[in-house]
Amino acid sequence: MRVLRSREPEGVAVLVIENGYVAPVVGAEVASGHVVVESGRITAVGAGPAPDLAGAERIDAAGCLVTPGLVNTHHHLYQWATQGLFQESTLFEWLTGSYRIWAGMDAEVVHGAAAAGLAWLALSGCTTSSDHHYVFPAGRGDLFEAEVLAAREVGLRFQPCRGSMDRGESQGGLPPDEVVEDRDTVLAATAAAIDRFHDPAFDSMLRVSVAPCSPFSVSEGLMLDAAELARARGLRLHTHLAETLDEEELCLRQTGRTPVDYLDELGWLGPDVWFAHAIHLHDKDVRRFAESGTGVAHCPSSNGRLGAGVARVVDLLAAGVPVGLGVDGAASSELTSLAGEMRQALLFQRALHGPAALTARQALELGTLGGARNLGRENEIGSLEPGKLADIAIWRVDGFRDAVADPLCALVFGPTPPLARLLVGGRTVVADGELRTANQEVMARLGVAARDRLLRHESR
Ligand SMILES: [Zn+2]
Repeated sequence: MRVLRSREPEGVAVLVIENGYVAPVVGAEVASGHVVVESGRITAVGAGPAPDLAGAERIDAAGCLVTPGLVNTHHHLYQWATQGLFQESTLFEWLTGSYRIWAGMDAEVVHGAAAAGLAWLALSGCTTSSDHHYVFPAGRGDLFEAEVLAAREVGLRFQPCRGSMDRGESQGGLPPDEVVEDRDTVLAATAAAIDRFHDPAFDSMLRVSVAPCSPFSVSEGLMLDAAELARARGLRLHTHLAETLDEEELCLRQTGRTPVDYLDELGWLGPDVWFAHAIHLHDKDVRRFAESGTGVAHCPSSNGRLGAGVARVVDLLAAGVPVGLGVDGAASSELTSLAGEMRQALLFQRALHGPAALTARQALELGTLGGARNLGRENEIGSLEPGKLADIAIWRVDGFRDAVADPLCALVFGPTPPLARLLVGGRTVVADGELRTANQEVMARLGVAARDRLLRHESR
């Protein structure tokens, strides 16, 4: 089998960003500072102008806010093709309706949806995205490869999670039998995806994680085998958990345990695990997450759209649980903007707990370093520090936004600002609000074509 490795493409050798407001997440903010990038890594962050460096490309960031690139820790890129449907449904209604359509997906649909979804994410300041793909109808091409190719085209750092479901309706699960796989097929395909695509290097552009879909669509045996496989290969584990009260009731009925008790028994809490949502947690669950180092991907827009509830972010942070943000699939969070999730997270917590519940700086940390911790990459990305990878967002906070006294407040409290530049490993992915690694219009059209192809299949 051909080994495909996705290493960082060449960027400009030396890059100097100066005159911008620098918010490094770790370390002091400076109102007019610089960031120096050499060979794809940050080598200096400081106040005032940068030193003279021969041959450097200089970016004048006057009127801009310079932050780490955002890190997205939960997504289902294929859902770009089913946005705008089931607008008033609960999670289980929405899933039941969607599975019927998703059953028709193939590699072309996944590639088009992922290309559009990742391009859109880049335009909202995201430099690293995970994805959780768990629908693999038989005989429809290599769906995992299709999204890997899309991530390469857009140029984002990528952490695709090989998902799975083996518990269809006939086994008491929620998905129809035609979209689930058997356990052996899942394990073999996951091992093959790791062999072919996973790159553990420091500057890796692609790491694979292992991610059975959810306790209500996956057998106990597969949950156990998936954890064993991930841990044997040194990979991270991910799944959906405690998203709705319906889920807790179903889990209690089927296993006699709450979702967190059930997964704890299966060995699914630990520093190598992060869960999507984790909304309906009991106090002892928050403590267990903190003690075990288990992370949470908070997806407030999706949770709001589906009426699922609001995660206990304030309690989780107070307990020391790693919390990052996720846009979740675009079918439950249309036109997903990762910067928008910082705002949504802040507003939800304040609506519940008052205006001091979450600050703009904490929201930025959730969207950057918190996400990096979820993905196990906090030593490489998530803050602007010498030695880290040059994944950097340069936001335009001039013009109308200049009236806001604090540029970080303009970013987090307001609608997503345009990007002057988005760098991944020092390479320009977005400049002047336009995608530069691929044709933005083509990416948009691929997303529309993916929707048309999938819905056409469904109507047959
Ligand atoms: Zn999800």
